[in-house]
Amino acid sequence: MTQHTLWHEHKISRAQRAALKRQRPCLLWFTGLSGSGKSTIANALDLALHQRGYHTFLLDGDNLRQGLNKDLGFSAPDRVENIRRIGEVSKLFTDAGLIVLCAFISPFTKDRRMVRQLFPEGEFIEVYMDAPLSVCEQRDPKGLYKKARAGAIAEFTGIDSPYEVPERPQIRLDTSKLTVDECVAALIAYLEQHELLAT
Ligand code: ADP
Repeated sequence: MTQHTLWHEHKISRAQRAALKRQRPCLLWFTGLSGSGKSTIANALDLALHQRGYHTFLLDGDNLRQGLNKDLGFSAPDRVENIRRIGEVSKLFTDAGLIVLCAFISPFTKDRRMVRQLFPEGEFIEVYMDAPLSVCEQRDPKGLYKKARAGAIAEFTGIDSPYEVPERPQIRLDTSKLTVDECVAALIAYLEQHELLAT
């Protein structure tokens, strides 16, 4: 219910907050199958940016589901609400001047678009982790594919729930071909080319 609320303009603008940090805020949204490398690459990029002196924040699926989103399950409406809240939190963090990294399977185009629409043009950077299902399943870092194949997890993305491939991601990384360092280098190059990092 928003009809009785008013938006308060802050005395300090988002541009002023970012300027104090000497950086341009953006959201890097990592999407892809479980095991495609979202957390690994997002963490590696987070570390690389932090070491260069940038103010960043990383949000990932399991952590948010233990706190802010612990009231949500895996029904279709709860999955949408999960992504909506993550988008809104990311927006607040970019308003605070941070470079935000989000690692969520986020299998549906509609949900990713909902988050994109919260951001000014160029600030939402979709990073599609394009590793083949066979590779992700072989890695199975959390043992989830094994459980899904055994029927212990229903509607698991890639097994019995679809993954809608991003049509126009800003960046596509195949982690079955690229090393972690190569992925990080590609992301940093993108950010530099788009003047989101000082060169
Ligand atoms: P996700 O967050 O997409 O579920 P994770 O990052 O948790 O995926 O798991 C990816 C797994 O694949 C990790 O065990 C990681 O060490 C491994 N891996 C192997 N090669 C790569 C690579 N080039 N990039 C990312 N992860 C890789």
